[in-house]
Amino acid sequence: MAVTEPAPAVVPAARPTVAHEGILRRQSLRESAARTYARSLPIVPVRARGLTIEGADGRRYLDCLSGAGTLALGHNHPVVLEAIKKVIDSGAPLHVLDLATPVKDAFTTELFETLPGPLADNARVQFCGPAGTDAVEAALKLVRTATGRSGLLAFTGAYHGMTAGALDVSGGAPDVRVTRLPYPYDFRCPFGTGGERGADLSARLTANLLDDPKSGVPRPAGMILEAVQGEGGVIPAPDNWLRRMREITAARSIPLIVDEVQTGVGRTGTFWAVEHSGTVPDVMVMSKAIGGSLPLAVIVYRADLDAWEPGAHAGTFRGNQLAMAAGAATMAYVRKNGLAERAGELGARMLGQLRQLAAEHPVIGDVRGRGLMIGVELVDPEGPVGTGGGLGPDGGSGAGGFGDGGSGSSPAPASPALAAAVQRECLRRGLIVEVGGRHSAVVRLLPPLTLTDEQAVAVLDRFADALAAAERSPYGQEQRGQEQNRREPIKTSY
Ligand code: PMP
Repeated sequence: MAVTEPAPAVVPAARPTVAHEGILRRQSLRESAARTYARSLPIVPVRARGLTIEGADGRRYLDCLSGAGTLALGHNHPVVLEAIKKVIDSGAPLHVLDLATPVKDAFTTELFETLPGPLADNARVQFCGPAGTDAVEAALKLVRTATGRSGLLAFTGAYHGMTAGALDVSGGAPDVRVTRLPYPYDFRCPFGTGGERGADLSARLTANLLDDPKSGVPRPAGMILEAVQGEGGVIPAPDNWLRRMREITAARSIPLIVDEVQTGVGRTGTFWAVEHSGTVPDVMVMSKAIGGSLPLAVIVYRADLDAWEPGAHAGTFRGNQLAMAAGAATMAYVRKNGLAERAGELGARMLGQLRQLAAEHPVIGDVRGRGLMIGVELVDPEGPVGTGGGLGPDGGSGAGGFGDGGSGSSPAPASPALAAAVQRECLRRGLIVEVGGRHSAVVRLLPPLTLTDEQAVAVLDRFADALAAAERSPYGQEQRGQEQNRREPIKTSY
């Protein structure tokens, strides 16, 4: 492990300062109703380093949200700060549209260094507007231009962003040109089987829809998927399923777009999540960690898809030099220090410990993840069992293969109220976690890849403590059993 930093002490709750309270009050008065993380995390960060954030009230927090997975090296890592300072001190222009610069050249070289071999040999990169969602738009536009077709295949539970096209392919927003296919979700298997069988049925249905001339699904411009669904509730696709999707699309000349916005740069245990399965996509969408904590988004794709006209995906902010320098430094650091492998090992250990916790807490319905992308799905064990849920044989969803086939039993209903209570109790104990998933009932951990063993212990201790407190809280006694009435919870974070 290359980076070690002492686990921060648990700092007792400080008295909120006037400044802290004033800032929060003004935020709630002046910012839009659409604000997200700020609702469930009422803190005012003023300083940060590594895993730790310090608030204006003097409290310190272990940050397992990491800018929604952006901060591969944690906050203000020295190599990132150094790279940013170097550009500033050099007098280089900070804004250059999409002109060539030495900084961009070095970023592109570093990025190509990380790509799956067959793609690296023959790739093009498009610098997009600085958000993941714009890169998704670019990917959709690219495959539509290259194929001359307009339909798309996308998956249940997907999240690809908030602009129109990205929303169309996300799980919550139907569009007539998008055919929605079942993502293999072991714990709540749409086929009620889980395991290998559930993933197999998903693949068969996909192939059948494409081959049946009366399926009502014309040949699409592309398929878009996440190798591990993030916002959908940390659901790793089985490697075999991903390979099947690759075979199915390749055999029918359908470009495969893999959205690595959240899974990229070592987070899941390999540099890109597709590497677990050996899948080589036609288009990869990248953002978050590639900018080393500053905004940057690109797509990388097979050169023969490069059929669009000059200016087909333009934008003013496609040349952020600081982000390129910070991103190149981050990617190089992850690669040279084996942080992907470290994330894989530490993540597996943390999953094991969380599964032990699950054995003592029936409110934990499922523990799953890959690398340092971890989800704990909370349920109401006394609630009415819904339809179509298949629990995998070991009660958890692993990632390496299809497993042995599901048991066919149905999982308990999701518990968004308990997840919210756990998030609140975590915050009280100085731990920042995210809540996501279809029913907003999955507590998500996305710590930096630099997490030390001691920090991992501190994170899990605080989580276990928070879970126990949330179970004992008024939520625990009163709100269980009402969960089935909460059908469409408002998403509070992405
Ligand atoms: N794709 C995935 C897989 C994501 O997780 C996200 C953001 N959480 C996006 C796309 C959109 O990225 P952005 O918020 O930067 O637009």
